Amino acid sequence: MMEDKVIIVRNLVKKFGSFVANDNLSFDVNRGEIFGFLGANGAGKTTAIRILSGLSRPTSGEVMVAGYDAGKEPEMIKRNIGYMSQKFSLYEDLTVKENIMLYGGIYGMKLAIIKQRTEELLERLNFRDYANRIISDLPLGLRQKLAFSVALLHEPRIVFLDEPTGGVDPITRRQFWEMIYETAAGGITVFVTTHYMDEAEYCDRISIMNDGKIVALDTPENLKQKYKASTVEEVFIKIARPDRIQS
Ligand code: ATP
Repeated sequence: MMEDKVIIVRNLVKKFGSFVANDNLSFDVNRGEIFGFLGANGAGKTTAIRILSGLSRPTSGEVMVAGYDAGKEPEMIKRNIGYMSQKFSLYEDLTVKENIMLYGGIYGMKLAIIKQRTEELLERLNFRDYANRIISDLPLGLRQKLAFSVALLHEPRIVFLDEPTGGVDPITRRQFWEMIYETAAGGITVFVTTHYMDEAEYCDRISIMNDGKIVALDTPENLKQKYKASTVEEVFIKIARPDRIQS
């Protein structure tokens, strides 16, 4: 059987004026894969993620996500993916329950289903006691777990996580990654950017970008072997521009 590819990118170019932010990217991502998207600041990751999630159009090239063309059917892509970033997530002045209900509505789900999923989600996250608490009162780690679950509320095939664990402690990050594993094991593709190199080790495959180009793409093990490095961090330092690495 053919591998089920949920993202297909061929010769993706994105220009801003004469500046080339994505320079001829080509790669595939499989069903249920945890795909790490790495690169120093300004390498072009956010630009690519915005195109993959239907928020921006490619200048040229072919981009298929969940069976839809990012150039022609971005609205269909938006409906079939989940998206979570540090900047775009929960409404701070609404309660946990209100946020779930609101996102269910935004995703166009029926009220009965929203109610059912809300109950399941509160149970699964052990969030019953927090249901009526305002988001801004919750610790960052809980907020991120909730934001991740909300991004999956409409059961998308792919979820994009743009630096989902920024600013949280290592134990909370570890717990967050447990959720990522469970999600991928259920057949959902997780496309994740991170600045934390230990997290890159947890991915099935990683891509490393530099100045708009993908300069490496493989499993963490293969990359370490190829670059004679003991960690992904060492690989990264060898091939990405060290002057742009965020500490
Ligand atoms: P970071 O980790 O800092 O978010 P990144 O890899 O996501 O970095 P991008 O945000 O994709 O990088 O930016 C890549 C380059 O494209 C940068 O030089 C940025 O200034 C430029 N760029 C991004 N968006 C625009 C825009 N709308 N107009 C002009 N230039 C842009």
